[in-house]
Amino acid sequence: MSTPRNHIVVMKFGGTSVEDATAILRTASIVAGRLRKGLSPIVVVSAMSKVTDTLLAAAAAAGRNAREDALKLSDTLRTRHLNTAAELVTNPDRLTSLQLNIHHEFDTLDDLLRGISAVGELTPRTSDNVVSFGERLSSVIVTAAFAEQSMPSAHIDARTVILTDHHYGKAAPNEPAIEAALTEHVLPLVDLGKVPVMGGFIGSCDGITTTLGRGGSDYTGALVGGGLHAGAIEIWTDVNGIMTTDPRIVPEALRVKTISFEEAAELAYFGAKVLHPATILPAVQKNIPVFVLNSRNAENEGTRITATPPPCASPFKSIAAKKKLTIIDIVASRMLLAHGFLKSVFDVFDKHGCAIDMVSTSEISVSVTVDSKEALPAICAELSKIADVKYEGNKALICLVGEDIRGISGISGQVFSSISHVNVRMISQGASEINMSFMINEEDVDEALRSLHKNFFANPDPTIFDVEARVPMMDKV
Ligand code: ASP
Ligand code: MG
Repeated sequence: MSTPRNHIVVMKFGGTSVEDATAILRTASIVAGRLRKGLSPIVVVSAMSKVTDTLLAAAAAAGRNAREDALKLSDTLRTRHLNTAAELVTNPDRLTSLQLNIHHEFDTLDDLLRGISAVGELTPRTSDNVVSFGERLSSVIVTAAFAEQSMPSAHIDARTVILTDHHYGKAAPNEPAIEAALTEHVLPLVDLGKVPVMGGFIGSCDGITTTLGRGGSDYTGALVGGGLHAGAIEIWTDVNGIMTTDPRIVPEALRVKTISFEEAAELAYFGAKVLHPATILPAVQKNIPVFVLNSRNAENEGTRITATPPPCASPFKSIAAKKKLTIIDIVASRMLLAHGFLKSVFDVFDKHGCAIDMVSTSEISVSVTVDSKEALPAICAELSKIADVKYEGNKALICLVGEDIRGISGISGQVFSSISHVNVRMISQGASEINMSFMINEEDVDEALRSLHKNFFANPDPTIFDVEARVPMMDKV
């Protein structure tokens, strides 16, 4: 394993941190602050906020032959990017070359959209190509904006370094190849004192554009940080880090100062949308700390995610809620969980690409929780060939996460007695032993979170929680 490069900090900025000229200037000053501290930043940016959704809508429109709709969407994006560029860059040569670059990208995109609508078919490979324009554009604009602020920035086309397999829509990175490409293309720039800027989310396989899946820019940040063995990875977003629970529901929620990789991954999975769970892996393997920080409140220390957090006096670090779930009860009417029954059940979900959140089984039935509605009718129709099927929507999962619940006896008693007035359906204690989750009706979520928070965060451990700032600053979790 290579020696850590502690001076390198990989800074990933999400869509809201590059959503307009004001946000990009704020981002520039945060990066300049790291440079002043003698650090070597490498910057990874998402597409400007909402751009990915709009590109996907344009691709879908083209796929159903609605050529004019697709081009109209592309046009609004072209105007937005050009306007942002003009607000950020005044140096005439720099502005001209940036505008040419933006027009060139949009001309290419429009050709592609025309092509898709001519064939009337959108393949995953073409969809990745269309959606990649968001990060391609944001990264060139941010590079120019940094230069305008007298920072020695250098644009990197992420597709030359994030090398993946060809699973379009959710490609898997080839980490050794990425490490080699970063060493060849990015490290020399860092050594020259430059600030490399690249788009997140996108990569390539044999020269063809791929993407890492929605929310994949965090993953890019972790791959770059892991590949170069950086000293830290910073995920800049619009919240003050990970909170003890959703502050919109529980205003007393506190910032969690330090959390373990496992805890953060559990939370990400259960709806605290701050971090992409896969971010965790390349960083964990190399023991690189990840910080979640707020670009609108850069002074805030955020949340540090580490392999070995200090012990915490409170059993839980955070409580997440995942709403809009459906519970499906599958009763093996004829064959009493005969051999192979469970496999056939899971195969049906798998075939429809429907991820299962939670499972519980009894002698004659299986209950599963899913969060996709679209596939449900087809899934249930298929399941009813082998079982009696009932489903019920408007459910929610509450998930309590904490390393320190390992081995604490009676913890579930404490949890359920604090919400004894709420009707609980399925209960599971994860194999990881650091989460407890259970299912309730969606309408009970607020009440359950308030009661649990009151019970478990009455005396928060000041080494782990930011007890000084009881006033929440953020607008979403
Ligand atoms: N722009 C991509 C998305 O919206 C990737 C990201 O921002 O992480 O999914
Ligand atoms: Mg994100």
